[in-house]
Amino acid sequence: MPEIITIDGPAGAGKSSVAKEIAKRYGYLHLDSGAVYRAIGVVCSERGVDLNDEKAVVECASDLSVELTDSGRVLVDGEDYSEKIRTLEAGKLASKVAKFREVREIVVRILRKVAKGRRVVIDGRDAGSYIFPEAELKIYLTASPEERAKRRYLELLRKGESASYEEVLREVLDRDESDKRREFAPLVVPEGAVVVDTTGKTFEEVMGIIEGLIKN
Ligand code: C5P
Repeated sequence: MPEIITIDGPAGAGKSSVAKEIAKRYGYLHLDSGAVYRAIGVVCSERGVDLNDEKAVVECASDLSVELTDSGRVLVDGEDYSEKIRTLEAGKLASKVAKFREVREIVVRILRKVAKGRRVVIDGRDAGSYIFPEAELKIYLTASPEERAKRRYLELLRKGESASYEEVLREVLDRDESDKRREFAPLVVPEGAVVVDTTGKTFEEVMGIIEGLIKN
């Protein structure tokens, strides 16, 4: 089985559910790279940093100790941010700080350190192209914007967050745009990646395709 599996793709494609399931079924450590950007965005904004000010954001991010635990918690300077980073707002803050090259370099260092000597499955936007270009298995998971927005919307409803479907769709499209147009490490299909379109497929169908890739 591959040592490193990367799963990239746009917002709401199902990357993190698939990555979690792979981790559970095959004993991999799941690294959620988006969670690190979310944590940096949320903490810097809590500290009053102007997220358009690159220098200030980089300064704030370099001071933080971000930990991803084996049980999937996200700790910042020892404090548990796992719930706070899951809001719609946190996703927007993450996209803002993710634009900056030095922030991306900080995140890569954090993730590579956690992954050392372990079998990992990592989900993100540049996991196969930039964070782990050496990964043996690279997957690019995608789905139509409407389906991705529907999934996100239902997830937010389940968590009791109020949002309209239209708002979530707009947010998904905005994030696609900013992730693809980003100057540094934009969202691309990594070289050597297998594209899996999940539109209209059940989770089990998607997992069936992915398991086939892992075992071959
Ligand atoms: O995947 P998630 O929705 O948690 O990611 C939040 C945001 O963080 C993304 O919209 C993207 O802007 C940024 N991100 C990134 N690179 C990654 C993971 C997330 O730029 N590897």
